[in-house]
Amino acid sequence: MEDLTLLSGRQWIVSQEDSSILDGCSKIPVIENGSCNRCGTQVKSKLPNGKYYCRGCIGLGRANEGDWLVRKKSHGNNFDSVKDGGLTWQGKLTPLQQNISDKLVQNFEQKKHTLVHAVTGAGKTEMLFQLIAQCMKKGQRACIATPRIDVVNELFPRFSAAFAQLEIGKYHGREFKEAGMEQLTICTTHQLMKFYQAFDLLVIDEVDSFPYVGNPQLHFAAKNAVRADGVRMYLTATPTEDLLLEAKKGKLEILRLNRRFHGGLLPVPKEKLFIKPFLQKKQIHPKLLQEIRKVIQSGHPLLLFVPRIEEIPLYQEVLQKKFKIKMAGVHAQDPQRLEKVQAFRECKYDLLLTTTILERGVTFKNVWVIIIAADDLIYTAASLVQIAGRVGRAKDDQTGLVLYCYHRYTKNIRQSIKQIKEMNQ
Ligand SMILES: [Zn+2]
Repeated sequence: MEDLTLLSGRQWIVSQEDSSILDGCSKIPVIENGSCNRCGTQVKSKLPNGKYYCRGCIGLGRANEGDWLVRKKSHGNNFDSVKDGGLTWQGKLTPLQQNISDKLVQNFEQKKHTLVHAVTGAGKTEMLFQLIAQCMKKGQRACIATPRIDVVNELFPRFSAAFAQLEIGKYHGREFKEAGMEQLTICTTHQLMKFYQAFDLLVIDEVDSFPYVGNPQLHFAAKNAVRADGVRMYLTATPTEDLLLEAKKGKLEILRLNRRFHGGLLPVPKEKLFIKPFLQKKQIHPKLLQEIRKVIQSGHPLLLFVPRIEEIPLYQEVLQKKFKIKMAGVHAQDPQRLEKVQAFRECKYDLLLTTTILERGVTFKNVWVIIIAADDLIYTAASLVQIAGRVGRAKDDQTGLVLYCYHRYTKNIRQSIKQIKEMNQ
């Protein structure tokens, strides 16, 4: 028989036929009173056999009417206390970071749900180290969840380095990993649907980003994954209205950090109006070409954002003819996306064409940014702020170019610039 202790705090679906109760587990119907117990969705879709199933969480395997949702209870304090919470990181926080870090530890002890509103490049990850260490020290279980796989892949090595002896579970939909009983888990918010009252501490990083934002299934899962007496912490550079509302009602405490770790200001985007199309008949608008040339001549690596995947090869083809530089394009469905992002980080490319998948959670030294069609509906004010936040993150390179190219000045463009200026005050 399987070792069920590895499944503590997890939930999974078994079919109607397999109705044995596993040792120490409870089971409930996955579809109950017209809604799904795994993701909270009201079920409306039927299979050919007339049974309902849930579309809300179908990415994790179909939940059918009649199936059971089995939950393995977690008893808390399953782990031995670790010296210093396992923190082996030797770095030093700035006084402002230290202040937030201390408050997070304090709020965890006082079981206060907390929202950290920190500008892009504030050094959020480092500010979490002591919080996580505190949880480990108590023999409790923590999870850092984020909507984006790229951010999971960025966080995992940093935590592995900071907690050198600790076994960390990394889970996301593109990589199969057998369920383990790790004291610290780093995963996508989708993976939270596999947990039930597992964590004493749940940190959600980049809480304003797609697909978590405005997704009731993921919010349901996040609440379910935390123990009844557990603590939720949210991190964001661009808080959403619902979180601000929760804070107003006193359900969340907001901690603000308006300075980047190096003390410098956020670069304020420049804007450029274009009347004619950016790309037409295999010609890039001469003014846009000129802007790209300026960046190349400055020697800075360039992240060039385009709204749609199909546009990447079109731009790449034209640019490759114009400039003798190394370039690549990357998007969400690109099987080589991790390798390309890493190669760009190592300066093996001078220019990387990308969609919004690289809007956040990634750091490239000395990078400058041009956004083509910043007025496209795909860019929210939050994503524009995030994209601008890729620039000027290094101590020895605090400024740089962020350029919005647009045909029509939109509310999102205006708001993003307003937010950046406010944070700089
Ligand atoms: Zn569901």
